[in-house]
Amino acid sequence: MLSKRAPHLYVAKTVEEAVTALHDYGHDGEPIAGATWIMRAPVRRAPLKKAYVSLAAIGEMNAIDVTEREISIGASVTHQALAAMLGSVPSLKVLTDAAAKSANPAVRGVATIGGNLCSAGFPAADLVPALMSLAAEVELATVNGSSRTSVEAFLQARASLEPGAIVRRISIPRRAHYSAHARLPLRKAGDYPVAIVSAALEVAPDGRVSHATVAVGSVEERSRQWPELENALVGGPLDADRAKLIGAQHLRVFKGRDGVEAPGWYRTQVLPALLHRAVADIQAQLEKQQGR
Ligand SMILES: Cc1cc2nc3c(=O)[nH]c(=O)nc-3n(C[C@H](O)[C@H](O)[C@H](O)COP(=O)(O)OP(=O)(O)OC[C@H]3O[C@@H](n4cnc5c(N)ncnc54)[C@H](O)[C@@H]3O)c2cc1C
Repeated sequence: MLSKRAPHLYVAKTVEEAVTALHDYGHDGEPIAGATWIMRAPVRRAPLKKAYVSLAAIGEMNAIDVTEREISIGASVTHQALAAMLGSVPSLKVLTDAAAKSANPAVRGVATIGGNLCSAGFPAADLVPALMSLAAEVELATVNGSSRTSVEAFLQARASLEPGAIVRRISIPRRAHYSAHARLPLRKAGDYPVAIVSAALEVAPDGRVSHATVAVGSVEERSRQWPELENALVGGPLDADRAKLIGAQHLRVFKGRDGVEAPGWYRTQVLPALLHRAVADIQAQLEKQQGR
């Protein structure tokens, strides 16, 4: 019997226990990880659920596995742990910087990568565009088994997922690219960013960009890739000024969202500068690696 007042908390020990409990609670239940988004439900005037299923004690969801082909991150890994445990992997700089710069130290210590992906109606999530730029895949677990999908497809399906679906892991293919995360908070640390650019670029031996994946967050309701820019970057030299110029030529594809922190036009107008910052970071990484 569920209480009418305080929500019921069920602490799952395995993924199977979690999905079964959530399936049984139906629309009365929800997973809970670090609770940094859920605790603000009253501020958003969102109703609390009658029951929460904690994912924090599920061992596999707190683990990071590194193989030659991919890096697999349990959905309950915190922002702080991500930054600390993967900070030495150069190709993941976009993700570890996103984790290390989001929110504030107290929030980063409990907020999880799974919670970041699953916070519906939160356009400013830092890890989402970072994961998109890395071509990450999301592993969903349900009572019927597991499946993998792209971050973009996951975001599209997120609102209509059946009760009982949880994000189990996030897998990132290992690639020979350089990556960077540029975000613009308006005041100080702890603010949500008004715009985010996450970029992963492969660079050929002649210094030209051979592959580009660039994702934008916080500008529209949902993070998304910027294919027009990606196509224009490929084939040209790795150069922050050039990237900024190209970015300014392809701004019309965005319809910035108006919000309390910034109007929509402002969110789009700052993108070329953020892109410049991200590409300059990548240039610096390349130069450092080449010992220049
Ligand atoms: C002061 C403050 C500042 C912040 N600043 C930033 C910032 O700069 N950048 C940023 O990105 N975020 C920021 N956040 C938002 C928040 O901390 C993050 O989005 C965080 O990653 C959410 O993770 P969590 O584990 O706390 O999620 P929770 O609050 O536990 O859950 C969030 C949602 O995800 C669902 N969920 C959680 N885990 C799973 C899973 N494995 N499978 C399915 N559903 C799941 C829950 O049911 C809930 O709907 C801030 C929050 C605060 C309080």
